[in-house]
Amino acid sequence: MTLNCRKKGLKEIDPEISNLIYSEEERQNNTLELIASENYVSKGVLEALGSVLTNKYAEGYPQRRYYGGCEIVDQIENIAIERAKGLFKAEHANVQPHSGTQANIAVYFALVPIGETIMAMKLTDGGHLTHGSEVNISGKYWNFVHYGVRKDSGLIDYDQIRDLAKKFHPKIIVAGATAYPRIIDFAHFREICNEVGALLMVDMAHIAGLVAAGEHPSPIPLADVVTSTTHKTLRGPRSGFILCSSSLKKEIDRSVFPGTQGGPLMHVIAAKAVCFKEAMGQEFKDYQKHVIMNAKALAAGLLEEGFHLVSGGTDNHLILVDLSNMGISGKEAQILLESAGITVNKNTIPGETRSPFIASGIRLGTPALTTRGMREKEMALIAKLISKILKERGKGNSLEAAKREVQDLTIRFPIKDR
Ligand SMILES: *Cc1c(COP(=O)(O)O)cnc(C)c1O
Repeated sequence: MTLNCRKKGLKEIDPEISNLIYSEEERQNNTLELIASENYVSKGVLEALGSVLTNKYAEGYPQRRYYGGCEIVDQIENIAIERAKGLFKAEHANVQPHSGTQANIAVYFALVPIGETIMAMKLTDGGHLTHGSEVNISGKYWNFVHYGVRKDSGLIDYDQIRDLAKKFHPKIIVAGATAYPRIIDFAHFREICNEVGALLMVDMAHIAGLVAAGEHPSPIPLADVVTSTTHKTLRGPRSGFILCSSSLKKEIDRSVFPGTQGGPLMHVIAAKAVCFKEAMGQEFKDYQKHVIMNAKALAAGLLEEGFHLVSGGTDNHLILVDLSNMGISGKEAQILLESAGITVNKNTIPGETRSPFIASGIRLGTPALTTRGMREKEMALIAKLISKILKERGKGNSLEAAKREVQDLTIRFPIKDR
């Protein structure tokens, strides 16, 4: 039984959902995707995701399952584990977390008793929901102490981290962010962890692709445990994984299953294996180089147009635009850009005064457009378009002209089957 020998396709079985999937495909084709956490997967990843592996229950780990019939999925999971270890030079990999959130919760649950202290980046300064937000299980079950970035430079305040760590003695210090445009100094984090006897956990969800390609310093030799997603710069399926030293293998594995998850999603694990394989190739390394070159070009274009960027620019795949000097909120900017076919997300900025639903900034990322084949020339044009749309808001003609230019770009750079 393969997809193409089924008697009926989705179109006949469920035209409503089939049409909506088609509409979403059209939307993705016809808009400029600048959400920093999104990307377009390869045909190989998509095929694995749509495979019969979704039918299989495989609670447990390879060769130690609670179900029969696992001899083939065991091979798949072992390949995914070996590839993750090889790609990131890690001693152990757990490829079962359903998402980045699941990976983080599993690590906390494995290493920190409920109610004890964890240190992580403040959400408004670039941290993630799972780094101790009061509305997230992390913030409800553990005592989070937050560090931030320096107001003057927009850079992580390592002195503050050291001071807070000495005062609060966290069990874990989390390094990693969802909206930080600069290189993270993992060695500095390691040093502080050693001084206070904390474990270092790096959440590399956003930068995993850059790390795999050697375009961002790797946290693996320095961290006790590393968590990640696979769907951001890494360009794989929507999912997560954990890397750690052999000494933590037992606790981490037990915490994922049976601690916080049931049966693994074998179709997604197969897709992760495919994505790890793709990330080992030269094409992927070149791609990540261009992701960064494009982000720098987009940043330069925006600076030229008078935009303020948090930290003044970027070292990675993303840019945080502070719109305070433009007389417009992040929410308004997001809506305006969307009306012209440019998709971004509103984002809080360091020292945020508005609610996160309104926010004072927008976050822009280049992974998706780089996958479409766009380069610096197109980034310069997009910076001009963004500027025009935001500055000439209310002028119908400007919006129409911008829309046409967006359309032209999407036609010239189609999302190709890879
Ligand atoms: C995206 C992200 C996550 C969570 O990923 P999900 O797969 O959406 O749960 C965790 N940490 C960081 C830093 C992220 O950017």
